[in-house]
Amino acid sequence: MSVGEALRNSSNHSNTTEGVTTNTTKSDIKTSHNVAVSTEIKDEIAHSTKTDTALEQRLKCDYLVVGAGTTGMSFVDTILTENSKATIILVDKNNNPGGHWTKAYDFVQLHQPSCTYGVNSLPLGKNRFGRERWDLDDRASKSEILNYYQTVLEKFQATGRVRSFFGATYEYNECRNVHTIRFGTRGSTGDADKDSMNTMNTKRTAITVEITCRKVVTSGASIITPSMREPLIPVHETIASNFVPVNEVTSRIASGRYKKYIIFGNGKTSIDAITHMLGDNDIDPSQITWITSREAWFLVTEPFRVVHKSMRTIANRVLSSKSVKETFLGLEKDGLMARIDDSLDTFPEVFRRASVNRKQLEQVRFIKNIVRLGKATSIGPHTIHLERGSLDFSVPDTLLVDCMVDNSYGYASFDNSFQTFEPNRINLGPLFGFLNISLSAAIVAFLECSFGDTTRNGETEETILRKQNDCCWLLTGDCACSPESLVGMLYMEAKYTEALMKTVPGAIKFLMQSRLNMNAPMHHKHGTLKLLWNMIGPPQLYKFPQKLIQKVESGGYTDIDHCFGAETHHHAVNESVATKTSSSMLVANEEHNTARINKINNFHNTGKSYETLVLSCN
Ligand SMILES: Cc1cc2nc3c(=O)[nH]c(=O)nc-3n(C[C@H](O)[C@H](O)[C@H](O)COP(=O)(O)OP(=O)(O)OC[C@H]3O[C@@H](n4cnc5c(N)ncnc54)[C@H](O)[C@@H]3O)c2cc1C
Repeated sequence: MSVGEALRNSSNHSNTTEGVTTNTTKSDIKTSHNVAVSTEIKDEIAHSTKTDTALEQRLKCDYLVVGAGTTGMSFVDTILTENSKATIILVDKNNNPGGHWTKAYDFVQLHQPSCTYGVNSLPLGKNRFGRERWDLDDRASKSEILNYYQTVLEKFQATGRVRSFFGATYEYNECRNVHTIRFGTRGSTGDADKDSMNTMNTKRTAITVEITCRKVVTSGASIITPSMREPLIPVHETIASNFVPVNEVTSRIASGRYKKYIIFGNGKTSIDAITHMLGDNDIDPSQITWITSREAWFLVTEPFRVVHKSMRTIANRVLSSKSVKETFLGLEKDGLMARIDDSLDTFPEVFRRASVNRKQLEQVRFIKNIVRLGKATSIGPHTIHLERGSLDFSVPDTLLVDCMVDNSYGYASFDNSFQTFEPNRINLGPLFGFLNISLSAAIVAFLECSFGDTTRNGETEETILRKQNDCCWLLTGDCACSPESLVGMLYMEAKYTEALMKTVPGAIKFLMQSRLNMNAPMHHKHGTLKLLWNMIGPPQLYKFPQKLIQKVESGGYTDIDHCFGAETHHHAVNESVATKTSSSMLVANEEHNTARINKINNFHNTGKSYETLVLSCN
């Protein structure tokens, strides 16, 4: 259906969407929080005097960006800055920008300082002496983040090059190669997914319109927080109302109905819930039982107050250790890494890059009722069934709190075949390097603007895509949730920075001037001097990337037998060679090493220096 048809149908109050005949009214199309656009769209439908061509022009853009979360917003922002002409349509199922933050619990805060989160062109952190300084205590709350993204959206709209549609669902029809957005009626739940389902069920879906775009940009992170889903395990109907997502903790405590609380989950969300209960709500530690299926590592925030120093410590540990295990135990001694119970013999196999401060650690260590019987499998009327046992609880005075977040905040959604740049499509989502999702999306946009135009240099689209993907070193696959991801992130950081600097003019300037880059001089006292001191002064940090690359690629960790997926997807050069490289990583004899060097040289194909290759033999 063309735009014109869709809009005409909508004004006839009847419309066929994907084979479903639907009744529609003009008021069904809502883009709450974006009054200007809402009115505009309704006007377009109402004013049937406009020609189809004019309407179609209005739904044509260079980039159709799906998702107004952190990655989509950061991508749009950099495109607008780096490309003075590009037009963008931004679409989101939710009613507001901010992605998963719109569904977060009220007491959530950024894990990192605000100064490096969000978009490049607008500060989120507090302004001190005209600068957004690195400040661990300045971490935006949920409402601050949501207000920020609303302001960013308004800034986008003021350019006249961005049109945004909220409460609208993007769909791609592969057979017809057609991009559509569907405007659904908003139900009472305020939840886009549930509302879409409701509208489908009641056959009140509004209209579907086609979007013509040069490229579609999507984020594949698929972040699902407890409030966005049904319980992950079967819950007996009699206690269903006692099993609540973390978002409900505050109001349930205020009801005064509960004497005991059982927390499900071993990540940052459960730590936030527990510290909120103990610190802000005067719950006694003895009232809390904590079900942790697996032990996890946490980054301790305080040492990161002096970020260069803590990065130096990490670099030293990563280079001097023979294994990931040794690295983590060393960092634990250094005070940069922690586990909830350090008296346990087992080495935690989970690292989701969540951070805690020392006060939070102290607080959660007051909890003595910790249940380590594996994952919960179901909840009966009085009993929680776990993989290795069960736990009884009293009804109705026990609140069961769902803090289970899978998948390392979506970062493990991507397998090793993931490519950022594809024909007519850009895929956002995974991290470039060390803890910097906002910067990652900005870099993708920067690459798009640096290489994007295939006609400019007479290069084929294939060549451009290869050049772009060659700069994208991303942490993908299962390792995203395990301790080895620490090495992986640093390895990817070294690789992407090297690739950008070698091949993209202006990349150093872009990185050094990006507020999303935690190393950018603007965030630090004596910024440039400090950076230079750390890089070329006694700490010699400029050597770290090459040394790490060499170590990872020469099988320098006894417990890592791969190159974080780089060997199988990167450069799409010689998959069979690369796969062999990965599987034989741990074999260390001279003949093998020589062969490996040749293979690595082949698949990287980026002019790696002779010196580096020789070093990787040792
Ligand atoms: C509690 C919590 C705290 C975190 N803290 C930090 C932190 O301090 N620092 C950090 O770096 N990271 C943090 N993360 C992770 C980080 O915030 C996320 O990785 C990042 O926000 C992901 O952004 P995104 O845009 O990819 O995804 P999302 O935020 O999930 O946004 C995706 C958007 O796309 C929309 N969408 C999807 N499909 C469609 C469709 N078909 N049609 C229309 N719209 C669609 C969704 O509605 C959604 O709004 C945290 C995560 C959580 C859960």
